[in-house]
Amino acid sequence: MGMGSLTGKTALVTGGSRGIGRAAAERLAKEGALVAVHYGRNEAAAEEVVKAIRAEGGAAFAVKAELGVHGDAETLWSEFDRQALDHGAAAGLDILVNNAGVAPRASIEETTREVFDEVFAVNVRAPFFLTQQGLKRLRDGGRIINVSSGTARIAVPDALAYSMTKGAVEILTRTLAQAVGSRGITVNAVSPGITDTDMTAGMLHGDPAGARMAADMSALGRVGQPGDVADVIAFLASDASRWVTGQVVDASGGSRL
Ligand code: NAP
Repeated sequence: MGMGSLTGKTALVTGGSRGIGRAAAERLAKEGALVAVHYGRNEAAAEEVVKAIRAEGGAAFAVKAELGVHGDAETLWSEFDRQALDHGAAAGLDILVNNAGVAPRASIEETTREVFDEVFAVNVRAPFFLTQQGLKRLRDGGRIINVSSGTARIAVPDALAYSMTKGAVEILTRTLAQAVGSRGITVNAVSPGITDTDMTAGMLHGDPAGARMAADMSALGRVGQPGDVADVIAFLASDASRWVTGQVVDASGGSRL
């Protein structure tokens, strides 16, 4: 450890305590980055990720901030700044992964104003202002990676408002890439299909038909694992992706091609 492609870099992964974010945090740490593992409520899960990273010889710390509430970005960044300093890192960061999200299952009829506002606050407003305030911390040549969803491409009427938030994330990705390109910062999105995490546990582990249906969506005939998506995030964080910006990279195993 310590000789990876991201040695000397600092990364922040929102929602790094579980699922895709956890896999991304572990993968970036494996490449040598110091990783801030952000979480909202589940401190034990975040600490477990930090412990797992350290056990492999990597460096990480946990950062708590509830997203979707006013002042969320300020809380997260002040906690990040303080802890990065404690860990001997230079001020600022190199890689921002906007991964935290919520996915209410609700059709148009079922979507209340409360559900609509919450999903937009967590999935759109939080990464917007986190990124706005992160730009002054992000070093030139840095990386912003947003986690979108296949639902921005494939119609899933049961998750309409959620799908709309991911549409917004993809526009943020393309337009911001233009805005910050002169600083050598790339902005890309990764678009997972159905991935085996707590978010999909009901569908995948509740009944065998759900798991079969999910696997059948992919041209490769199986359900995505967090590591399948994390590897694409690691590529977008690496120097190998330096000529890719403003793009949505599919990581759905070719779902509904
Ligand atoms: P997950 O297992 O449910 O984990 C969600 C993570 O986000 C947790 O670390 C959680 O922290 C954090 N989080 C959620 N709401 C938060 C809030 N209000 N404030 C602070 N932190 C919050 O989710 P996942 O499946 O890994 O999904 C990660 C991303 O991938 C999301 O953007 C999701 O939309 C996207 N995605 C997932 C799938 C899939 O099939 N799983 C498919 C396409 C896209 P706490 O535990 O502390 O609350």
